[in-house]
Amino acid sequence: MSPKQLEDMYDAVIVGAGAAGLSAALGALRSPAIEEMRASGIEPRILVISKLQPLRSHTGSAEGGIAASLGNVEHDDWHWHYFDTVKGGDWLVDQDAAKLLAEYAPQTVINLERQGVAFSRTADGHIAQRRFGGHTADFGGQPVRRAAYAADRIGHQILHTLWQQCVAAGVTFAEEWYVTDLVLDGSDDGGAHVAGVVAYDTHSGEVHAVHARNVLLATGGAGRLFHTTSNSWDLTGDGMALALAAGMQLEDIEFVQFHPTGLAHTGILLSEAARAEGGVLRNASGEAFMERYAPEHRDLAARDVVSRSIMAEIDAGRGVADPKDPQGPKDCVWLDLTGIDRDHMEAVLPQVVETIREYAGIDPATDWVPVKPTAHYTMGGIPIDTDGEAYRWTADVDGVDGRTIVDGLFAAGECSCVSVHGANRLGGNSLLDACLFGTRAGTRMAERIAEAPAADPTNDDVADAATEVDSLDTASTLRKRELNELLTAAKPADDDSAAENDAYGATADGSAADDNPYRLLADLGRVMEQALAVRCSAQTIEAARRTLHDDLMPRAVALHAHSDVAAFNQEVTAIWEARHLVMLADAMLDATDARHESRGSLMRLDYPARDDRRFLAHSMTALASPAAQHTDDERLHDVRWQPVHIVDFPPKDREY
Ligand SMILES: Cc1cc2nc3c(=O)[nH]c(=O)nc-3n(C[C@H](O)[C@H](O)[C@H](O)COP(=O)(O)OP(=O)(O)OC[C@H]3O[C@@H](n4cnc5c(N)ncnc54)[C@H](O)[C@@H]3O)c2cc1C
Repeated sequence: MSPKQLEDMYDAVIVGAGAAGLSAALGALRSPAIEEMRASGIEPRILVISKLQPLRSHTGSAEGGIAASLGNVEHDDWHWHYFDTVKGGDWLVDQDAAKLLAEYAPQTVINLERQGVAFSRTADGHIAQRRFGGHTADFGGQPVRRAAYAADRIGHQILHTLWQQCVAAGVTFAEEWYVTDLVLDGSDDGGAHVAGVVAYDTHSGEVHAVHARNVLLATGGAGRLFHTTSNSWDLTGDGMALALAAGMQLEDIEFVQFHPTGLAHTGILLSEAARAEGGVLRNASGEAFMERYAPEHRDLAARDVVSRSIMAEIDAGRGVADPKDPQGPKDCVWLDLTGIDRDHMEAVLPQVVETIREYAGIDPATDWVPVKPTAHYTMGGIPIDTDGEAYRWTADVDGVDGRTIVDGLFAAGECSCVSVHGANRLGGNSLLDACLFGTRAGTRMAERIAEAPAADPTNDDVADAATEVDSLDTASTLRKRELNELLTAAKPADDDSAAENDAYGATADGSAADDNPYRLLADLGRVMEQALAVRCSAQTIEAARRTLHDDLMPRAVALHAHSDVAAFNQEVTAIWEARHLVMLADAMLDATDARHESRGSLMRLDYPARDDRRFLAHSMTALASPAAQHTDDERLHDVRWQPVHIVDFPPKDREY
């Protein structure tokens, strides 16, 4: 679906149609500011652009639940949720934001229910809730049932419901359009404002300049940086890369969550709900080893704790090989679900059961399942405040906050960082973050729209802005030229040489003479996995950086398409995605390199302790301006440090 006509100027463009983007669209349209505008006869011009048909957004694959202290099954309290979130994030959490998250979680879930989300139910008809890692009562006491769920298909329910509500509200979508550029006007040191985005309509092959006074990025995560990931092929960190390229910083980008239970060989997620329902992790000798690492919470300790414990078992020689490859590396452990009643398992974990049957060819009611940690969630992202407004951080001076809002730029969901997840996200908090802060961003955007609506005939600025040849038009012209070059370089492969190529199109001698983005992504995934998966050190970071700079970056620049047809040419978007990932990988390596401590999901073998004195701070990573580039090494980024907002819970040791 494409918009019937492109407006000269939009009030707002939302990039992304997962839980965050759709929540933002609804938040804006249902806000008092827009209602008033409509009452006076002015319709808002809001466009949602998505590179996927919205119902294919990755939110649809969320399985286990959404966190909220509803207290439907046992007593719960939002203050406990607040504390768990701060502790789960290893105190790298902005507590003002986490407080909002926990306080408004019950209302967020109830709103979702009222819009149509079909939650699983308790016997007396309330929304059912299950245990999840790190959810506790009494500020770190016994586990509590806090995750509201819909069997193990909560994301599917939420995504469909929000999309239906958007369709009912008349939201305009540009589906299967790929945003290639975020364009900001103004100075680099603050005072910048949004000009719009450049987007590629994959159906027609045309590039468009889309002028907008507000742009909200809700493009999801970047799991495809790693070979083993629970993320689908589309999670290529586009929004974060667009922001970085436009001169923004990324916050805490070194924190990537590895979920403990990815199905061996595939990385496909087996939800934490499997352990919540009674699943137990076992090593090669059948020992339920989590009792040793986290005596109180065992298999339901926070994810970083469980993933590190699995890797420790594997390193100690107590791992197992995937039964599909018995002679292969012993880099898995067992997930034992056999203690769960078969009928109950089918009822509450249908997705987990189906995945194991389809992809491992075994029966989880009788067989142990091989699992290993899988790249799952990017805690960091585009820095935003609690109203979704993106900012640049310089330095706090004389008690004055060093955040400068970029006029009209918003972000929400996994590509953003309001800093509720800190160094490690708790299960169920991501959908909550996307829905709650997505809605809040939409509401704030609506206030800005109402101040100067694009469709207001009395608003002269709109006509001027739309006819001006500005930086957006320049960016669009450059992108058209680049597309042309990508396509012109396409040479149809002759049959003989094609026969000698491998599955990714590499030549028989392994050279990159006929490279392509899929091959590049496979190589990048392996490099990043070796460098950063679950643990890292200066050595692994440096090795990856060298490969990135000497091999992967030049190859990314040299990529070209293999068909010269612009319409439906998926290789073109894959090239841009690969370039985004390469760019992001470099930023991630530099941010990781700069943090000389271990915290949450980041385990540095060379700095094994948490260091609150130096690093109770958010890393703020931006491309270094050419003049400021380091001369003594190869780093291309500047990393600054923004203090964490501590409100109620001073840092202390983190034990489960
Ligand atoms: C397997 C799995 C299970 C999970 N289970 C849970 C769970 O039980 N509970 C929980 O809280 N969290 C869970 N999560 C995490 C959670 O699902 C995600 O963090 C959340 O859904 C992200 O939502 P989002 O709206 O930010 O992004 P997405 O849903 O990923 O949407 C991104 C959108 O951006 C669009 N887009 C991206 N780039 C571009 C571009 N360049 N141009 C145009 N459009 C673009 C895409 O088309 C898409 O519409 C799970 C994650 C995974 C991978």
